[in-house]
Amino acid sequence: MTLGEKQREFNYMTALLILHARQLGYGFTNGDSYRDPRVEYGHKYSLHRSRLAVDYNVFKAHTYLRGKQAKDVHSLIHDYWDMIGGNQRIKSDLNHYSYNPGDEILSGSGKPMR
Ligand SMILES: [Zn+2]
Repeated sequence: MTLGEKQREFNYMTALLILHARQLGYGFTNGDSYRDPRVEYGHKYSLHRSRLAVDYNVFKAHTYLRGKQAKDVHSLIHDYWDMIGGNQRIKSDLNHYSYNPGDEILSGSGKPMR
């Protein structure tokens, strides 16, 4: 699968995820999405740099959820993400949704990227 094919599939999957969250009564706004390689924060080999990751902020009605509330909702929504083929959740970064089937090495890092 080419990077472009992965990016298009990832975008489609995020659309499904947003719809699923909406059906459960939650709304998302984008947090960190594409990360320009020129910025210096974050992991050097993050999937954000390959347009294969997005961080979502979660809302219930008009309230931004934080802490345990957000963690519980992201955990629930990650069950769906897992089901449609998304990368495994990172327990310390639950609002992060990424896609890299087969954990392919994309950057020459020698490690699968999340
Ligand atoms: Zn992230």
